[in-house]
This record gives sequence, C-alpha cells and structure tokens, in this order.
Amino acid sequence: MENKKELRTWLDDFKLTHPLVIAGPCSAETEEQVLKIAHELKGSDVSIFRAGIWKPRTRPGGFEGVGEIGLKWLQKAKAETGLLMAVEVANAAHVKLALEHDIDVLWIGARTTVNPFAVQEIADALQNTDKIVLLKNPVNPDLSLWLGGLERLHNAGIKKLGVIHRGFSTYEKSKYRNNPEWQIAIDLQNRFPDLPLICDPSHITGKRDMILEVSQQALDLNYDGLIIETHIDPDHAWSDAAQQVTPDALKRIFVDLRVRKATDEADDFNIRMTKLRTQIDDIDVKLLEILGKRMKIAEKIGALKKEKNVSILQSSRWHEILGKMVLEGEEKGLSEEFILKLFKAIHQESISHQEKVMR
Ligand code: PEP
Ligand code: MN
Repeated sequence: MENKKELRTWLDDFKLTHPLVIAGPCSAETEEQVLKIAHELKGSDVSIFRAGIWKPRTRPGGFEGVGEIGLKWLQKAKAETGLLMAVEVANAAHVKLALEHDIDVLWIGARTTVNPFAVQEIADALQNTDKIVLLKNPVNPDLSLWLGGLERLHNAGIKKLGVIHRGFSTYEKSKYRNNPEWQIAIDLQNRFPDLPLICDPSHITGKRDMILEVSQQALDLNYDGLIIETHIDPDHAWSDAAQQVTPDALKRIFVDLRVRKATDEADDFNIRMTKLRTQIDDIDVKLLEILGKRMKIAEKIGALKKEKNVSILQSSRWHEILGKMVLEGEEKGLSEEFILKLFKAIHQESISHQEKVMR
C-alpha cells in the first residue's frame, strides 16, 4: 500500500470537530438505551455513534449482542439524531446486514484483525464500498498483522480507511486492560502519515477514570480521533461496565482535553518530542514493573532461606551476577560504572526485602 494523500480526505468531512469523536455504548442493549444515549450525544462533539451488535466474547457465556434487531434501533437513532452509525463486523454476513441497514461506518475488531481469512472475507464483502472502514489493531503486538489487514482492505478498493489503536493483550497484568505499546501505533503513523489514526482509550485502559489521561496522550501524539464507550448507566452495562462513561462525563472530558493542531514548526517539535517522551515513559513504567517483580522473587528466596536457615548474603552468587551484568551492559553500550551502581542499588533493595521476610 503506497502512502496516499487520499487516505485522509474522508476525515475532512469531520474537520469542524477536530478530533473526530466516535462515542456510544460497548453494546446495543435495548432500543430505549440506544435512543437515549444517541439523543444525549446529539449536538456534542460526537459525530459518529458506535454500538456493538455482535459481541466477540473471549469466554463463552457472556452477552453476545442483540444481533440484527439492533441495526433497526441504530437506523432509528440515525433518523432522529443525524449521527452517523458505526458497528463492528466480523464476517461477510455481518457486512451484508450492516449495508442493508445503511450503517455508515464498519469497524473490524481486534480479535478479527488477527485472522487473515476473516479480514479477507470482510474485504471481499465490502469490495469498492464508499463506507468508512476502521481496522482495530490485532490483540497481539504485531504491526505486520495490522498492516496486512490494511492492505487487504485497500486492495479491495476501499477508500475511506482508518485505524483504531485499542492496545494489546499481555499475560502480565498492568495498570492497563490492554497495553498501549504506543510505539507500534507511532510506527504505523510514521509509515502512513495520512492514514487517519483513532485512539480507543476505553479498551486500552479498561477504567473510566483513566480515559482523559490516555485521550490526552493520544492527542499530544497527533491522533486524528477518539472512540470512547459511552452509556447512560455504565455500572449496569451488559458488557465493559468498568470502562464506560456517561454522556455528561464524556462532555466534561472534551472540556478538559487540550486539542493540538499540527500546523506550525513549534507544534511539529512538540509532537516529535512527545513521541520520544512517550517511549521513555513506557520504558520507565516497564522498568519499575520488572523491578517490582524481581523484589517479589527476592522475597520468595528470603522465605526459602528462612525455612532452611541459610544466611541472606551469598557473596559468590552476588559477584557472579555482577560480572555477568557488566559484560551484558557493555554489549548494550552501558558503562561499567553505571552497571555497578545500578546493581548495587538493586541488590541492596533485594536484601532489605529478604530481611523483612526473614524477620
Ligand atoms: C469493542 O469496541 O467493543 C470491542 C469489542 O473492541 P475490541 O475489538 O477492541 O476488543
Ligand atoms: Mn467494549
């Protein structure tokens, strides 16, 4: 896929509201719920209403979406509010129904992007459509898979393309529901600067009180839009309750957000600086997470030593670690002086954790 300017022309239709805002519930639940939320969002910064009709659930047994009937509710919401309507599609049958019901925006979910067969099936069903099609990142942190999906859609003659960054699954739990791994989206943005890039802070954070912070980070990185799950009664939502905000909370988020325009040189400098700082911040958080994990293991060692009545300090082991790390550090361009200071500090912290356990 070449880097074509035409990729972003569809965004111009929304330029009055920069950034582009997509909002609505994780799932359409009832006709009343859909209409109520849509009416509350009418006249705000929101231009596209989202609602899941078919829900991909990681485990069976959860609410799997209301299905086709929900498309009728969305048609009604569109007629009453003028908002454009967006749904998630995961196969050709979904696409057919969405097109029959005059849905304006189709998005491909993270669990679908991982599957080239599924993305190809959707691309074929959408051949040469003039609908807006948004591709979420795959659940796993793999840029090629995301690019591959994009190429399949582009090759099918779909012109109004965009991507949604919703974060990546990890086995290790962090403060995010899905780790942002900003670098992956930044790489995609560098490769296709004209491809509209939308952030999904709801699925990245999994928590409503972190939505503002992550939205701001996305705008600082020059993202084009945000997709935020919004519900009239978030705590009783049938899916993703913890991350949804009320329409009023959404409006407050937009009052608090600082919107940047990427126009002059100073802004360009700021954006580049923000990108670099974001990478540093990501790494710092990971460093702390890893150090925390290391200390937990030290505590287990402390417990084992206590059980077997062994002394904490084992200097031969310590010198062995230090020697190895100095060599590894050298390979990575880190000075011996720094490695010695760093590992002495880590070691001391480790000992104090072990002491706490042994006392
Ligand atoms: C959603 O947007 O409700 C959804 C299912 O998202 P994702 O594909 O990012 O998990
Ligand atoms: Mn959701």
